Amino acid sequence: MRIFQENETVIIKKLFVDANVRTHPEARRIVANIGLAPEWVDDPISLYQWISAADDPVSRGKSVLYLTRNRGGFLKPCPGTREYTCCDYQILHVASFCTMDCSYCILQSYFHPPMLQFFINREDLDRDLDTLFARTQVSRVGTGEFSDSLIWESWTDLTDHLVFRFSQQQRAVLELKTKTVNIQRLEKLDHQRKTIVSWSLNTPTVMKSEERRTASLDARLSAAAQCQQWGYPLAFHFDPMIIYKGCEEEYRQVVKQLFQRISPENIVWISLGTFRFMPALKPVIAQRFPRSKIPYGEFITGLDNKMRYFKPLRIALYRRMADWIREAAPQVRVYYCMEDDAVWQQTMGFVPSADGGLGRLLDDSAIRVCGLNP
Ligand code: SF4
Repeated sequence: MRIFQENETVIIKKLFVDANVRTHPEARRIVANIGLAPEWVDDPISLYQWISAADDPVSRGKSVLYLTRNRGGFLKPCPGTREYTCCDYQILHVASFCTMDCSYCILQSYFHPPMLQFFINREDLDRDLDTLFARTQVSRVGTGEFSDSLIWESWTDLTDHLVFRFSQQQRAVLELKTKTVNIQRLEKLDHQRKTIVSWSLNTPTVMKSEERRTASLDARLSAAAQCQQWGYPLAFHFDPMIIYKGCEEEYRQVVKQLFQRISPENIVWISLGTFRFMPALKPVIAQRFPRSKIPYGEFITGLDNKMRYFKPLRIALYRRMADWIREAAPQVRVYYCMEDDAVWQQTMGFVPSADGGLGRLLDDSAIRVCGLNP
């Protein structure tokens, strides 16, 4: 089965299906679309063991797909820590892992074992969405935290379904976050601006050396411009920003290209975050990306036990990025994913807690750009 992606084709070599879902209509549809003979799984432990036993479990986990039920809830709060400012985002956990391959990807050491999984129990998903839509406050929800939102497009119509569900209510927005250009399905959908399509952006140097099988910067911006034409609100994430010689000029150029193609009024938010990682990721990067230099920068251990660049280095880069974005688009909400008050104060001149909290600021952006009616 081939997935449309710009740079390289991904081949799923094996399809595993939980024996308990073999008659589920969504499982049947996906099996038919993939066109591989499914291997039925009575006990997933043996599947997990087979993945873990590979020399490179991450690569094996990217070449097989397991269809099963999500037995926990589909909605989960995005994991944050008290020490850093968190944005009260909710993860819609429809699938796990990714067919693309970024050296810095946290998912390589997050799932044990890492493996492509897609959850077929849409009836439970719908029940969780009903509960979400009954809330009286604004919700920001995304499918791009445990996977890339748009890698599943050729196998399932889940995106159509989600866009439709969100279009029928007024208090929640769905964010589809991607590094692909798999936007074809979005063209005909009546989204009512309740779906935000977002791209992670980086410098061409980082994309080339650290992001295997992702779309190029030009392709991502072209896809974003196309979605803008189709009326979708957009968002962008400069995360993880990598510090290297000459990076500032490259990031400045990316910001410039972004605003040459996209109008600020359509941007709901732009996030900034420098590279951070749990220590367990370092040996994975060293083994799988031996030419990568990213885990060998000037890091300290943060309060969440993640390695981060020294704060003065982070602040220097953030200041410049925030200035360049503000120059081009003063009204666009720029925020940090997991930074502390000192960073906010020194780069933005305020701390979100003094302004109702970061969640509130992002809610306001969603209300303004997506037309929510809380
Ligand atoms: S695109 Fe995102 S989810 Fe996929 S490998 Fe890269 S960082 Fe991980």
